[in-house]
Amino acid sequence: MALMWIANRWVGSADGRAFEVKNPATEELVDTVPRAGVADVDRAVQAAKAAFPEWRRTPGIEKADKLHSAARRIRKEREAVAILLTKEGGKPLPENRDEVEWIAACPENRDEVEWIAACLDYYAEMGRDVVGKVISPVARNQFNFVVKEPYGVAGLIVPWNYPLLLLVWKLAPALAAGNTVVAKPSEYTPLSTLRLMRAFEDFPEGALNVVTGYGPEAGAALVAHREVELVAFTGSQATGRRVAVTCAEQLKKCHLELGGNDPLIVDEGVDLEVAARGAAWACFLNMGQVCTSAERFYVVGRAFDEFVDRFVAFTKTLRIGDPLGPDVDLGPMISAFQREKVEQKVAACLRAGARLAVGGKRPAGFDKGYFYEPTALLDVTPEMPLLREETFGPVAPIVRCRDIDEAIALADRSEYGLGASIYTNRLEHAMKAAEQVHAGTFWINDPLTDNDAGPFGGMRRSGIGRELGSEGIEDFRDSKHVHLDYVIAAKPYWYPYRYDRPRE
Ligand code: NAD
Repeated sequence: MALMWIANRWVGSADGRAFEVKNPATEELVDTVPRAGVADVDRAVQAAKAAFPEWRRTPGIEKADKLHSAARRIRKEREAVAILLTKEGGKPLPENRDEVEWIAACPENRDEVEWIAACLDYYAEMGRDVVGKVISPVARNQFNFVVKEPYGVAGLIVPWNYPLLLLVWKLAPALAAGNTVVAKPSEYTPLSTLRLMRAFEDFPEGALNVVTGYGPEAGAALVAHREVELVAFTGSQATGRRVAVTCAEQLKKCHLELGGNDPLIVDEGVDLEVAARGAAWACFLNMGQVCTSAERFYVVGRAFDEFVDRFVAFTKTLRIGDPLGPDVDLGPMISAFQREKVEQKVAACLRAGARLAVGGKRPAGFDKGYFYEPTALLDVTPEMPLLREETFGPVAPIVRCRDIDEAIALADRSEYGLGASIYTNRLEHAMKAAEQVHAGTFWINDPLTDNDAGPFGGMRRSGIGRELGSEGIEDFRDSKHVHLDYVIAAKPYWYPYRYDRPRE
């Protein structure tokens, strides 16, 4: 059985309960982990609280050293971490750690393990850089400065689709800013997170703790804990709302990274083979279980027929199979529940008049595992669920648009605002779309790329706050304005008031 990481010790749950983690490709047991309850969460929070006074005062350069060291250790252990990620999460192995020769051939390529190491390196340096500012005073002899301080214990809750990446996007800036941390991974993917903790073993006792457990138990207990000063949550809109309500009741800082229903526009005049392959990547990567997966496709006028033909033909070439490989493009979905949700949405659209262009069923030849064929639908209309709600599965509803203005208007018709993409070779169309579509990230001819140095997050109902970039560390820091007078003297404006006499 794997164990939790609390106060730099590997521990079980207080009451000895545990739960199983299954492989979504085989439905076989991978391992068991402790099922944390209120007492375990409290233990972890107390450990983080005890570590906070010393960690917050640790000089930036020493914190940086520890974060760089964690990055180095992760890179050394990439194979073991990546295999666990694939076994519990179902993502094809190359997406978790790429082969060395392939990285050499394509250095832009980044797998989940390399991304987290790079993110730790990035925030290691940012944490020892600027921590405030000096501002112009309002009186003589006065010196005013703003210090950026950590909040205290940060509770971090993340989902299963990128278990380590999404955790490190929070954990690296939180620690670099001087907070201490209690993290709760998804119940589907706790094993790689626990394995990751080996890279942090030389951090001070209690600076970083991991509890494993179910959302309504361990997750809810962490959010509600009075000594957790800030909650940073990534997950669904429904859970995010619950987390926000608990935080609001306690007037606790709350950072939310939620879902999306991202549009992708294809304009006339672009290379439609490139656009079709880019669209397929944006839609089917990790079986469409990416928060910024493209989920709605708006194709302008004359491009429509050829785009659909190419998209369907390319989709048929994708290889479904055991995500440990070799030669597999698509693994399973995370769970039977997630697959059923997608099946129901597709069925509802077909009943309402949509037409299947490809996929739409479980692939033949798999007795076990939550596999589903990459799918495209035509004749979809705006009221259908695929065009209104987050899908989180490998399904592309493709809509024909009269012109670019209609495509932009439809793309922006959503309660979400996480990401959006366009393929176009007309600068005017690219800029119009970037300006008019609500999205925390907008991709032009380059869907689904990440960059640690820029902010990531959602507009509208897709979230509150930003991760990554300088914004990502600022969200883990509070501002303190310090006034200092370097000449100790009584002020003429103090009591007693002397309105009737001229001032001395
Ligand atoms: P989820 O909301 O079911 O669970 C997310 C996390 O919250 C898990 O660790 C879960 O255990 C925990 N949780 C569940 N109930 C809780 C409660 N009552 N209190 C506290 N914690 C609780 O989401 P999921 O199915 O794991 O992940 C998929 C969702 O995550 C999708 O909606 C996706 O768009 C979103 N997501 C968003 C981003 C982003 O950066 N915006 C990134 C990845 C995924």
